[in-house]
Amino acid sequence: MAGAAKRDFYEILGVARDASPDDIRKAYRKLAMQHHPDRNPGNKEAEEKFREAAEAYEVLRDDEKRRRYDQFGREGLGGAAGGPHFSNAEDIYAAFQEIFGGMRGGRAGRGAPGGFGSIFEDIFAGGAAGGGYGQQRGASLQVELSIPFLESAKGGSRTIDLRRARACPECRGSGARPGSHPEKCSYCQGHGSVVSRQGFFTMQTACPRCGGRGEENRDPCAKCRGTGAVPESARIEVRIPAGIEDGTRMRLSGEGESGEGGGPNGDLYVVVHVQPHEFFVRHRDDVILEMPVSYSQAVLGSTIEVPTLDGKNRLKVPRGTPSGQILRMRGQGFPNISSGERGDLLVRVVVHVPEKPGRREEEIVRQLSEVEAKPNTPIGSGKGSGFFDRLREYFEHE
Ligand SMILES: [Zn+2]
Ligand SMILES: [Zn+2]
Repeated sequence: MAGAAKRDFYEILGVARDASPDDIRKAYRKLAMQHHPDRNPGNKEAEEKFREAAEAYEVLRDDEKRRRYDQFGREGLGGAAGGPHFSNAEDIYAAFQEIFGGMRGGRAGRGAPGGFGSIFEDIFAGGAAGGGYGQQRGASLQVELSIPFLESAKGGSRTIDLRRARACPECRGSGARPGSHPEKCSYCQGHGSVVSRQGFFTMQTACPRCGGRGEENRDPCAKCRGTGAVPESARIEVRIPAGIEDGTRMRLSGEGESGEGGGPNGDLYVVVHVQPHEFFVRHRDDVILEMPVSYSQAVLGSTIEVPTLDGKNRLKVPRGTPSGQILRMRGQGFPNISSGERGDLLVRVVVHVPEKPGRREEEIVRQLSEVEAKPNTPIGSGKGSGFFDRLREYFEHE
């Protein structure tokens, strides 16, 4: 356990005790970016630092919690863990996303189902009772979506079918039989909280029986057996933005499972996988395409037909194009997901050499070989290009 010596929240964030909210925010952001699990897959130390920073920030960002912490330390925050209460792992992620927006870009680690959440589940499991006094955020769900390469360029929409727990329509999520009246909680006498003593401190924590609501139901709803939630089959329309990258995790706010005790719904995350294409490879917003041309097309120049993201198009191969040359077709790449501006199509022209030339072809090539400049034949012959002149010189000095 890493909990042996718990560090001071200010020390964790590396800020002074009188740091402004803005300084605290900035310090947290920096640490969170640095130790983000997506950037440090499998790194236990980074995980621990990321969790620690989130914990510290959760307290110091809140005026009331910060005041209590300054006065009483961790004990002042109440609850079994003596720290902040995320009702589940997704909350940290959600809080982080809310404040700073998503972390886009890095492919590593993104998209493993539950990969992010599982890091925190162990740590926060069981310590989540206090929180929002009976209000619990619903669990988040994640689905994976695989789309064809060309669809990632053009965008589109998909329908996702899923099952999730939603507020029971019979009791509207209360868990009580309609028409019945909830009664005062017998454990806390309706206070919603219980007081306990620990050393010098008296601590107030949420009632373990009613979760802080102060009332309990002795007459549960028949439909949901008092849980307040029922499973539901949902069909959700997901819009896929043009230019989306492989591994992008989209968040559909509130489309997860219903919250408890009036808490907000969880979110639905959609991880998009882009299938590879037979000819195209994406590089940032550009598309790379390798295109064979014949020797004569490269020497004499020609107009060839190339596939693009938008269908067939014509490309002029200039006279004397060397094999391997990249020809740029402006604005024929992917739309940038935020600006909409399109990248380019980069066509790499490769001179095709026939393995088995036909009889007539061979005849002509033999004639050609009699008249062409031979840049890399043994020393002393003919005139060559700059490269072959240098190569000859290099051989001489070997
Ligand atoms: Zn119900
Ligand atoms: Zn109670």
